[in-house]
Amino acid sequence: MSPYDSDPADRLPADRVLAAAADGEDQAVEAALRPKQLDEFIGQERVREQLSLVLQAARKRGAAPDHVLLSGPPGLGKTTLSMIIAAELNAPIRITSGPAIQHAGDLAAILSSLTEGEVLFLDEIHRMSRPAEEMLYMAMEDFRVDVIVGKGPGATAIPLELPPFTLVGATTRAGLLPPPLRDRFGFTGHMEFYAPAELQRVVHRSAALLDVEIDPAGAAEIAGRSRGTPRIANRLLRRVRDYAQVKHDGQVTQEIAAQALQVYEVDARGLDRLDRAVLDALLRLFGGGPVGLSTLAVAVGEEAETVEEVAEPFLVREGLLARTPRGRIATAAAWAHLGLTPPQTPPRGAVPAQPELFKGASDAG
Ligand code: ADP
Repeated sequence: MSPYDSDPADRLPADRVLAAAADGEDQAVEAALRPKQLDEFIGQERVREQLSLVLQAARKRGAAPDHVLLSGPPGLGKTTLSMIIAAELNAPIRITSGPAIQHAGDLAAILSSLTEGEVLFLDEIHRMSRPAEEMLYMAMEDFRVDVIVGKGPGATAIPLELPPFTLVGATTRAGLLPPPLRDRFGFTGHMEFYAPAELQRVVHRSAALLDVEIDPAGAAEIAGRSRGTPRIANRLLRRVRDYAQVKHDGQVTQEIAAQALQVYEVDARGLDRLDRAVLDALLRLFGGGPVGLSTLAVAVGEEAETVEEVAEPFLVREGLLARTPRGRIATAAAWAHLGLTPPQTPPRGAVPAQPELFKGASDAG
């Protein structure tokens, strides 16, 4: 797939309570929940420390810092960090995204209106059009663009000087960035999924900002079901708050968080209905696999793409499902998670028809 194709995530159901991408409601509340300074930003120690050095050095030199690339899955804090970078530099920030820049002219218009030292946040930078990307190379390196005026043989390139600015690019797919673009960033921060204890701190912080009373066990319960993603933790917190206010006195305890998330069909490990349906079909209908993606998708009544892009990444990450050349197979942990017993190991000497299946089963002990 070319980096410029539309992102499959855009074509997938966006109404999942566990979706990592922001929905309309998220966007409205997120502004209030974003940490504003580097030391308020929870977790991502390495990125934070490195970035802090980059920013301090720039401040000392009194110059714009190197361009920054932030890579990692959605909802981990890339937009938040870009805003923190601007705040720490005391600089204004302009926010746009790759899909919004389809023509080089769109980019030229943005670049030429930047003020000195401004931070330009370019989300989904891997989805920019090729001509815009080429214009960006020159802008990043020489703070200059060539604006083409006219067409055909009479076309002329008019050089345009740009004020020094800092580009903060964000991408969910660093591997898709062409090397010439990647090389023009002086600093790359790889964002990792958050540990449960870090997410628990995110939940506590957001609860305080939303005026929700929550105890540590309640915050831990939400954190454990949030798939390592602060955006999901914040969304689950809001759903739990609704439940606590409607069914109880508004206080969030572990028991109330667990009850609420059961209503929203988010299980103790952060799997939702679709994830469990995929595992359930794989185990009950296909004995743990291997089974082809399209067969599995038909069994759960979803498009193959939905199963592959929405359910599988998390199941693979959790070690519940593996993609093999022969098809999808369940791991021993998947049988345990759904409380099912894997098929017996075949008698000694028998040749298993599905070696991966029996390997998984015997691993389960
Ligand atoms: P991305 O740009 O990577 O998709 P965002 O920066 O929009 O993610 O973050 C999504 C939400 O998660 C924001 O509302 C923000 O408040 C919260 N968030 C992300 N990272 C952190 C963090 N490290 N500490 C606290 N809240 C965070």
